[in-house]
Amino acid sequence: MTPEEVIDLLSTAAAYDRRKVGEADVIAWHAAVKDLDFLDAQDAVIGHYTETTDWLMPAHVRKRVKDIRAARVAFAPVPAPPAELADSPGAYQAAIQDAVAKIARGFALPKQIAAKAEPSQEYAEVRGADHDPVRIEAIRVSCPWPPCKALPGAVCVDADGRRLTAPAHEARLKAAGLVGEEVP
Ligand SMILES: [Zn+2]
Repeated sequence: MTPEEVIDLLSTAAAYDRRKVGEADVIAWHAAVKDLDFLDAQDAVIGHYTETTDWLMPAHVRKRVKDIRAARVAFAPVPAPPAELADSPGAYQAAIQDAVAKIARGFALPKQIAAKAEPSQEYAEVRGADHDPVRIEAIRVSCPWPPCKALPGAVCVDADGRRLTAPAHEARLKAAGLVGEEVP
């Protein structure tokens, strides 16, 4: 993001925490978050202050953006690269990496060729533990449980901001229609 976008980002934070934003803050924050997409970072700031009263630092933004990007990749199968690249391993790998990076940034990619092969190493690495089909379904909706309130695309977190090992909070599973209301 640009320094101007960093000002917008810090203005969003200031709306919650009344921080003063000076030139030195913009320079320091820009150095720490310039590689992130502005809109993702904006969502991260809002998500942070929806969940916690902790003073926002760049590390909070980076962590939340990382989670949002990982969730997007978990949603979307990576399309197979064009067949003509198959004889050129470097270009083929680069095409997969490019596709994963685009999905992480929120681009919807067209399916090219049905991928019947095993997922690529890159795909497995980026997806990480997010291959749980219940989690993938659940994070399409936001989490209604007040201490968490994870945004769509972001995974549920516990009170310390750590990702749940369970797919999602019970309330979110219900909101996603994955479990029925309990009948007493
Ligand atoms: Zn949750």
